[in-house]
Amino acid sequence: MNRNILAASCLAVTLIAGCSGAGVDRVSGISSADLTRSVLPLNDGWAAAEGQVTGGANAIDAHIYTVSSRKALVDALKEAGNAPKIIHISGTINLSSDDQGRELTEADYRVAPYSFEEYKNAYAPSVWNVKPLIKKRPNRKLTGPQEEARKASSKNQKDQIVIDIPSNTSIIGLGKNAKIIKGMLQISSGVENVIIRNITFEDAFDYFPEWDPGDSFKIDSNYPGCMDEYADASHGPQMCPGGRWNSEYDLISINGGKRVWIDHSTFSDGDRPDSKFPPVYPFPQNEITQKVQHHDGLVDITNQADLVTISNSYFHDHDKAFLIGNSDGKTADRGYLRVTLHGNYFDNVGQRMPRVRYGKVHSYNNYFVGNAEGDGVGANAYERHLSSLDHKPKHNIVRQALGAGKESAIYSEANVFEIKNGDPSHAIGNMKGKVAYDQGSMFNGKMIDIVEEANKASGKPLSKEVGWTPTLYGPTPVLPAADVIDYVKQNAGAGKL
Ligand code: CA
Ligand code: CA
Repeated sequence: MNRNILAASCLAVTLIAGCSGAGVDRVSGISSADLTRSVLPLNDGWAAAEGQVTGGANAIDAHIYTVSSRKALVDALKEAGNAPKIIHISGTINLSSDDQGRELTEADYRVAPYSFEEYKNAYAPSVWNVKPLIKKRPNRKLTGPQEEARKASSKNQKDQIVIDIPSNTSIIGLGKNAKIIKGMLQISSGVENVIIRNITFEDAFDYFPEWDPGDSFKIDSNYPGCMDEYADASHGPQMCPGGRWNSEYDLISINGGKRVWIDHSTFSDGDRPDSKFPPVYPFPQNEITQKVQHHDGLVDITNQADLVTISNSYFHDHDKAFLIGNSDGKTADRGYLRVTLHGNYFDNVGQRMPRVRYGKVHSYNNYFVGNAEGDGVGANAYERHLSSLDHKPKHNIVRQALGAGKESAIYSEANVFEIKNGDPSHAIGNMKGKVAYDQGSMFNGKMIDIVEEANKASGKPLSKEVGWTPTLYGPTPVLPAADVIDYVKQNAGAGKL
């Protein structure tokens, strides 16, 4: 790490406590005491746009807690309410556990007569898709005792593992191994001023994923027997591609909240990645994208959430990392969803780093490492499907890092992409967007403009007129792309402070 970076990272985290005091770590410039009452540096990304983000930094001593269980976490949040509070996380907190600390699993949440095998059989395309289609898709509203029981089971799990964070909260990991696992922190509408630092988040596992038979369903005449009306076992909509498993939980959901800073944290599916749960239906419902998904996003930002900075964090071994805006139809998101991402490391992530709708998103000095091999090759979806079955990759197939969705305005600077078997369209993809900007980025070792280069490959080019210019850079200077890899590898993630 060079001297400039050291000075900058020191400045970046210690506005209250000062940087040169006793106990300061010589490498990071940060001491644990500084972390406790640390605040978002001035102008550090969109979170800083409307007043300083202090989280719980102004807490009275009685509102500084150290917790190591779900119950203690919930009790501390409840006791302090919206008053400034600092929650130190010590060791591992399993959010899927009861008040005695016993882990709760599928059997504890399950409501009869739900069973995955029976659920799977009840809604198998060979059974469900043979009914008349609705708007050219199988009926997406599943009915019957298995779906009723799945919903009831899912509610039991949700009530246990989703933890609502109130305003004026700092959640700070102690030492190098603070973890929050098997659940979701939610920052909802009306909540603001939240800081989360130095925590490893893992495995927001949904025990009761839902099959959506109409998700990505398509009547595609290239598929033998695919037609919109049932004729017999090998002719009808059950022979068409599509349908997806969906799960409910992100590790952190910023669902309407604002002024949030997430820093030096790590996010993954832990030891239960979705790659362990392959597709369960036969062809043509056995594409790799039809695996039985048990995880949703790592961090999702939705429903008029706003003013978020995510810095120096590590996202790894997951398919869909970040959704910013969850529906083209949510025009109420216009003017919101403003997010800055800098200094983050995305390693073996498939897509959505982030995928953006509506928001002005600033992405700089992030490092993206992945492999695009496995999309399949062929003239049409059927051929690509067959080809992809020949070599099912172990990695998360990179579809695109940055996704420019409806009315999004991504401003990318000095990002570094290392996408094996990829081209610039894997750095940025046009997903019903109109604009995106890039400067100073590197793709597979070459300095290129990722927007211009992706446009050459795409039939739907993005204009570089995004209509805004970032001003909120904080105290850390933007690094040239050539310096990003070493910096991010050393600095990003939990346990680095
Ligand atoms: Ca989902
Ligand atoms: Ca989500």
